[in-house]
Amino acid sequence: TGKDSSGAYLAPGTEGSVASYRARYGHYIGGEFVEPAKGLYFENITPVTGKPFCEVGRGTSEDIDRAVDTAWKAFEGWKRTSPTERSNILHRIADRLEANLELIAVAESWENGKPVRETLAADIPLMVDHFRYFAGVLRAQEGSLSQLDGDTVAYHFHEPLGVVGQIIPWNFPLLMATWKLAPALAAGNCVVLKPAEQTPASILLVMELIGDLLPAGVVNVVNGFGIEAGAPLAQHPRIRKVAFTGETTTGRLIMQYASQNLIPVTLELGGKSPNVFFEDVARDTGDSYYDKALEGFALFALNNGEVCTCPSRALIQGSIYDRLLGDGLERVGRIKQGNPLDPTTMIGAQASNDQLEKILSYIDIGKEGGAKLLTGGERVDLGGELSGGYYVAPTVFEGTNDMRIFQEEIFGPVLSVTRFSDFDDAISIANDTLYGLGAGVWSRSGDIAYRAGRAIEAGRVWTNTYHQYPAHAAFGGYKQSGIGRENHLKMLEHYQQTKNLLVSYADGPMGFF
Ligand code: NAD
Repeated sequence: TGKDSSGAYLAPGTEGSVASYRARYGHYIGGEFVEPAKGLYFENITPVTGKPFCEVGRGTSEDIDRAVDTAWKAFEGWKRTSPTERSNILHRIADRLEANLELIAVAESWENGKPVRETLAADIPLMVDHFRYFAGVLRAQEGSLSQLDGDTVAYHFHEPLGVVGQIIPWNFPLLMATWKLAPALAAGNCVVLKPAEQTPASILLVMELIGDLLPAGVVNVVNGFGIEAGAPLAQHPRIRKVAFTGETTTGRLIMQYASQNLIPVTLELGGKSPNVFFEDVARDTGDSYYDKALEGFALFALNNGEVCTCPSRALIQGSIYDRLLGDGLERVGRIKQGNPLDPTTMIGAQASNDQLEKILSYIDIGKEGGAKLLTGGERVDLGGELSGGYYVAPTVFEGTNDMRIFQEEIFGPVLSVTRFSDFDDAISIANDTLYGLGAGVWSRSGDIAYRAGRAIEAGRVWTNTYHQYPAHAAFGGYKQSGIGRENHLKMLEHYQQTKNLLVSYADGPMGFF
């Protein structure tokens, strides 16, 4: 079954595990693994134990050049595929992923530290669904024809951009790669993708699984560090677009690089999302709605808080503040932390040692800044093999929105709670941030929820729910959280350009000369 006597999945690489990584990976270029040009590799560490488990090619501009060349050659064939052919290929990819769901879920948890409960129920099923969604909508996309006068017609065609560069973060390595790959391929582009250096291998494992379903060179993966491999990709004169998910500071650099080549960017950046609880939430505390709201309060710890839309600020109306906070903390206390490969674990390890250190330093910043620590606030030692892993207890602070822990993205299981007096106060605190990615609104009143949803400056406002990511709802940031959208049919247009054929069927002269 691939599990040990406690019910936890066996670590990839141990006998009987459902998943196994190679000891060493090169880059994936032209449908095969190739040696990095400089022959260099870097160690890949699992946050579950803090120990290395494989080596991955350390890419440089030479590898990026090779991948871009290969992708342009593949584009000659790929651009001629019909929507039906591309749709069928994306469906086959989805089927292959689904058939290997457990394997991929365990591999992803091992590399990233997130609970396998999430990868089994969310990350990998969402990946599958995303490929299916784009396999479907690509065939529903239509060009247009306008009759300009009796003899003149304007045709509008969607054409792919060519070779696009995609740069991926470490928090949802496979899902973020899918958000970019599925629409790019559906629209007829070829891709050079650079995963995050903290989580380079799961996408290589996936390419190994699905590689035979795609013509060689249509998707190429070059690994390495941001400056050494990411920057040469984003600056490459022969890519036609760059899509990036990561930190806001890196996003600024990506835009500068893209401006040199005058190519479009889509940027999915950071956030400091408000989760707003209006007083009618606690009008009844014994029903399933209240129960769902408490779950919404605790969802800051989902994916160990390493989510760009993490509801990291809870805003609670004064009249229900003590009750909701008390019940919310009780719910946080029930979050089970443990081995990410144990399917009952709800919060696992932070993705890297750097991230662990960053979170712990923000916990100090919170205390020094005068916030009151209500629970958590420390590294957790799970003992045995897991002692070296990067575990942080779910942490809740109480304070005010001007504090650094309310303003800066921590990207960990750390919640900052504050109170508001009335509707206008709630909106003003919610919007008092540089970011505008996600938000949650909790109210039993459709009117209040609607007005709050429209007033909050964020690209996605969840109402009476949180952390749902269906393929057919547009996702992206307001303010410094990004440019452009991902998911949804609209996404195809981010990977296309419009060809207009303006045709005259008149046989008379135009009359100018
Ligand atoms: P990061 O910006 O450090 O790295 C992201 C990627 O960019 C990595 O692949 C990295 O190697 C690469 N990179 C770094 N410097 C580069 C450079 N100069 N040129 C080209 N590439 C470079 O971010 P991270 O720490 O990996 O990811 C966490 C961040 O991502 C958080 O801020 C989070 O909010 C954000 N995020 C946003 C979304 C969203 O959809 N808005 C989703 C997930 C994560």
